[in-house]
Amino acid sequence: MKTIVTGGAGFIGGNFMHFAVNAYPNEEWICLDKLTYAGNMETLQALEGKKNYKFVKGDIADREFIFDLFRTEKPDRVINFAAESHVDRSLKDPELFLRTNVLGTVCLMDACREFGIERYHQVSTDEVYGDLPLDRTDLFFNENYPIKTSSPYSSSKGSADLFVLAYHRTFGLPVTISRCSNNYGPYHFPEKLIPLVISRALNDESIPVYGKGENVRDWLYVTDHCKAIDLIVRKGKVGEVYNVGGHNERTNLEVVKTILKALNKPESLITYVTDRPGHDMRYAIDPTKLETELGWKPEYTFDTGIPVTIDWYLNNKDWWEHIISGEYQEYYKKQYGEE
Ligand code: NAD
Repeated sequence: MKTIVTGGAGFIGGNFMHFAVNAYPNEEWICLDKLTYAGNMETLQALEGKKNYKFVKGDIADREFIFDLFRTEKPDRVINFAAESHVDRSLKDPELFLRTNVLGTVCLMDACREFGIERYHQVSTDEVYGDLPLDRTDLFFNENYPIKTSSPYSSSKGSADLFVLAYHRTFGLPVTISRCSNNYGPYHFPEKLIPLVISRALNDESIPVYGKGENVRDWLYVTDHCKAIDLIVRKGKVGEVYNVGGHNERTNLEVVKTILKALNKPESLITYVTDRPGHDMRYAIDPTKLETELGWKPEYTFDTGIPVTIDWYLNNKDWWEHIISGEYQEYYKKQYGEE
């Protein structure tokens, strides 16, 4: 059994590669990644030399390259994590999101059709459902909720999901889709909220919070997401969508304050910055289908996952310091202004 994991040098794909290569030593795992600013070979260092692991650099939207790769490798499965994933960046360059997230998905599925595949899995997001009002805590997204996107990022992911479902219905491609809430954990690029707060607080730097910090996100520890994907790929029903989430809703301000408290840092580090245009208010996932049909259960709650995550950042300073010393510094200045 041979699986191509796209975007495996990124945050969730990287965690998935660690999990899969170790959990399934008799299966072959190929990581395919373009190594954009978000891809990092240091994330995969511990896998180097393992017999069932291989890395290939390439672009999922490069048709000639993808078809050549499928011709040579003849994969049995594809799990597509590769994406431009940051909402703020999607406001600056929507076309890049269209190219990678939509055209890249279509290109991968065309190769699957051409060469045959047992399963194509699309890693999607709860952001395709748009947002929920803050005062309706009784509402949750289930899989039948309409796609109603807000940002160029979520629109590209929602469009890709529609293509995936269309390829199943029209061409009979054996697909599954998972839509997960916000992830956190090791190897998370420090432009995203939780690693941003940890890395900046450790350096006693100011912590930018959009608006009043009232926006609510539903947080899941990354390995719980990886195990859900593995379960869906192996046991999920073809043509189906599965929501993934652990009922861990927190406002952004609560997240920041929890981390500052755990690190023994003052709340005076918080700086409120102008809100992101179109900022979604609340995401909340209903994972009942995954729990009841496939027996998935997350191992971590927010309260148990955050200390583990903080420990990882404390013990792996080299990993994130290499990142924030580079190109990211320029991006940070453009996004939030000079210090
Ligand atoms: P990430 O930005 O950390 O990683 C994306 C990876 O994709 C990087 O390694 C990058 O180099 C690679 N990549 C980008 N463009 C590529 C291309 N054209 N060809 C090949 N590789 C390319 O993202 P992430 O947070 O790990 O998210 C992974 C997937 O999970 C995405 O599809 C995202 O939409 C989805 N998702 C993320 C979250 C979250 O909280 N981070 C939640 C739900 C779903």
